[in-house]
Amino acid sequence: MSGNSNKTKHVIRGNFKTGRKTLPSGGNEVISTRVGYLPPLKAPPIRKRKDMIPERIYNFQVPPDPIRANDIKKYIHAEVVVVGAGIAGLSAALSAAEAGVKTILLEKMATVQARGHDNAFIGSRLQEKLGIKIDKDEIIRNLMRYGANKPDQRLIRMWAEGSGKTADWLLDMTDAAGLEVIINHYPPPPAFNNATEYYPQYPVTHHCHNERLIANCLLDNVSKKGVVTYFRTSAKQLLRKKKDRITGVIAQNAAGEYLQFNAAKAVVLCTGDYGNNAEMMAKYCPQSSYLASMIPTSTGDGHMMAMWIGAVMEPGPHTPMIHGPAGPLLSSAFLQVNLLGERFQNEDVPIQSNVNAVERQPGGMIWQVFDSKYPEELPYHGIGLGKIIIATEKVQHDVAKVAIMADSIVELAVKMKLPVETFKATVKRYNKLARSGKDLDFGKRPDRLSPVDSPPYYAGKSGYSLLAVMGGLNVNQKLQPLDKDWNVIPGLYLAGNTMGNRFAVDYPTMCPGLSHGMAIHFGRIAGLNAVSQK
Ligand SMILES: Cc1cc2nc3c(=O)[nH]c(=O)nc-3n(C[C@H](O)[C@H](O)[C@H](O)COP(=O)(O)OP(=O)(O)OC[C@H]3O[C@@H](n4cnc5c(N)ncnc54)[C@H](O)[C@@H]3O)c2cc1C
Repeated sequence: MSGNSNKTKHVIRGNFKTGRKTLPSGGNEVISTRVGYLPPLKAPPIRKRKDMIPERIYNFQVPPDPIRANDIKKYIHAEVVVVGAGIAGLSAALSAAEAGVKTILLEKMATVQARGHDNAFIGSRLQEKLGIKIDKDEIIRNLMRYGANKPDQRLIRMWAEGSGKTADWLLDMTDAAGLEVIINHYPPPPAFNNATEYYPQYPVTHHCHNERLIANCLLDNVSKKGVVTYFRTSAKQLLRKKKDRITGVIAQNAAGEYLQFNAAKAVVLCTGDYGNNAEMMAKYCPQSSYLASMIPTSTGDGHMMAMWIGAVMEPGPHTPMIHGPAGPLLSSAFLQVNLLGERFQNEDVPIQSNVNAVERQPGGMIWQVFDSKYPEELPYHGIGLGKIIIATEKVQHDVAKVAIMADSIVELAVKMKLPVETFKATVKRYNKLARSGKDLDFGKRPDRLSPVDSPPYYAGKSGYSLLAVMGGLNVNQKLQPLDKDWNVIPGLYLAGNTMGNRFAVDYPTMCPGLSHGMAIHFGRIAGLNAVSQK
């Protein structure tokens, strides 16, 4: 055996080199350590199993027959061709056009696509004006930790270091268009202290009332820069001879005609995610493959086209973005019970983590329960995605509209159709823990243990939805896809949800709007890089 097991004494000496800390004693310290089994120091090989079950080959993995030259109705020439007029593609097309090259944008729908309202950037002039200072390294560390160290830290750093400039670029346009952009939940309520949060929250969210306004603003600028956008034109196949550069893309218009778009410099693929492709979900995101996507256009077209010419998908399982309004007060940390009437978790978790627990409850549904004190309690329930921090008139109106209301816990249980005695016992126990200020069952912090004891009582039922899948293709830091031998595929760039290695495990909500923030930032970088393609 080549391992050993010895009790050894080590002397640690103070290090007196400038800038290095000495030990607290300032001198020598003796520590005892038992050296356990050590494997041989020779690097072990990766032992691959011999009885591995062959992977199923799905239809989408089989490249289609090339579209024949005879079937091409028209040839159109540009220097850069961007596919997908979502938030990433619009940014890519605009930055390519701003750099002075002839750019064409293809979109399979009749108009641009966007949803939501949050965009995460660090170091914008808006943040600077508000005096917001953010430790980029801390965010990078936390994003890496949340992703179990699987994302490519170099890509995360690119966003952290560069997105402030991208934000200013965007703010120039939104300001000119008269769109209001604010930093959401800033300043936070006085009760909020990031240092005491289990899940941190950063003031990075550039919030616009509706992301479609941002997309339309980008489209206006794209058009002003002379980009021709072909709507209802769906990209079908990339053009590549053997290992050569990508030279263009063949697309199909609404009349069913094939158009060949030749790109003298590069093609940028920004076709969004693949959540609406059942086969791709089964292969790359099986844990969420039972869920219907909220984005109908997310059929993975770009991922597939790139894989047919040699690009490689990042390892799975990929990261689903799944959110659930935990109830009428969204992800605020009020009591939750499952359909058995039982409490099942510390409710003080981000919206995506909450879904993970809810998904594992009977029926995958839960109830959020609170009482008439909720307007006073909301400011103590944290900030971030899905948090309501002020009970505005609208919030109170919405709560009254969607929640079940009752004057007693028994009446509430009956209306919720829960086992009355179990629910009564759950509420009684929760109130006891809340009054004692110590959550012996799940360890929720005392200021978020809001007792349910002041009628009227409220409850709202909720499940969750698949918004997008954040898995994509392997890329380098120029945002070029890589083949199975890690060689660059020249003439092709990726941005938005076609690009991989940004997220793993779960979509992190510590920076609300990270998906858009990255799509806009990497879209801009991909557009600029496409321009400099030789
Ligand atoms: C309800 C909802 C709210 C959300 N809110 C937020 C939020 O506030 N902040 C946030 O960061 N994220 C949010 N997201 C997630 C976010 O929308 C996506 O992750 C993000 O839009 C990705 O941008 P994208 O440009 O990569 O893709 P998309 O916005 O999906 O754009 C891709 C575009 O490519 C087009 N396309 C696809 N295939 C082809 C083809 N073959 N030829 C031509 N065109 C093609 C599509 O039609 C689409 O226009 C939300 C998602 C949902 C469902």
